[in-house]
Amino acid sequence: MELIHITRESGIPLIGCIAFGIIDRGTDLLQVRPTTMCNMHCRFCSVSANSPDMHPASFTVDKDYLLEELKKIIEFKGVECEINLDSVGEITTYSQLTELVKGIKAIPKVKRISMQTNGTLLTGEKVYALEKAGISQINLSINSLDSKQAADLSGCSTYSLDHILQIAKMIADSSIQLLIAPVWIPKVNDAEMPKLVELAKKLNAKIGIQKYETYRYSRKIKGIKPITFWKFYQQLKAMEKETGTKLALTKEDFGIHKASRLPAVFEEREKIQAVVKCPGWQKAQMIAAAKGVCVSVNKCLAEAGKRVRIKILENKNNIYVAEMAG
Ligand code: SF4
Repeated sequence: MELIHITRESGIPLIGCIAFGIIDRGTDLLQVRPTTMCNMHCRFCSVSANSPDMHPASFTVDKDYLLEELKKIIEFKGVECEINLDSVGEITTYSQLTELVKGIKAIPKVKRISMQTNGTLLTGEKVYALEKAGISQINLSINSLDSKQAADLSGCSTYSLDHILQIAKMIADSSIQLLIAPVWIPKVNDAEMPKLVELAKKLNAKIGIQKYETYRYSRKIKGIKPITFWKFYQQLKAMEKETGTKLALTKEDFGIHKASRLPAVFEEREKIQAVVKCPGWQKAQMIAAAKGVCVSVNKCLAEAGKRVRIKILENKNNIYVAEMAG
């Protein structure tokens, strides 16, 4: 798998690609994605992380470049923002994570910093360093309290539930808010959900149960179909009654509010010229740059440095996908 280092000098913008950089969905929460790498191979991974056949290239973004661009976007939005460090991989594989958190904390108008992790690479020392650097909340994936099932779902023979539970306790004992974030996979880990709610209560943590979803490129558990949002919501409501814990969460529960968004620079179906920069995150894709954004160009055979004519297919949330315009 090719690893692409994104620096200011690379000329690769940090807006426009789903896999790395900064994502603004028009709220006061900005997603910051410094890496695409992951150390696990979860059987239900919605982005198929760690599958070189699906993702021939990996990306890592220079911390200073990321901080400079983030600062500009926060200034543009003009409101206090939460920064959510997430990834299409595992955030703790990013070697500059603590320094990145420190740098974000120093930006005026940052009110909170949260991150998602599978927890496997965390240690007591790293939790302490993140606490000192200024992280406000860690969303920790725990999908089962049965050690065999937890390891099986992780796709990693070395996965240790005991280690994750120790990390959960360390976070809970620190000033960092812990949120336990299981994926509820119908007919697979149903029985684990009430147990995880109890664990959250015991640790004085929040819990955010996520719905199992499948997409064209996700890893799917054979024979298991996702349920509808309506059914998922009903099941959460029923479990709320049983456990006395609020489980059906909304944007408001996460304190997310609407805010001005970066304007789109290209319209759907618009034909533009862009300069190819590097391979894309998906197979047979290249990343091109134009007007300060990245565009992922499907079925592109042009080499880096070439100018191409492309047609924009998607521009939602300033994430651009295109095809060759011929
Ligand atoms: S679900 Fe998360 S931890 Fe698991 S393989 Fe995907 S990105 Fe990695």
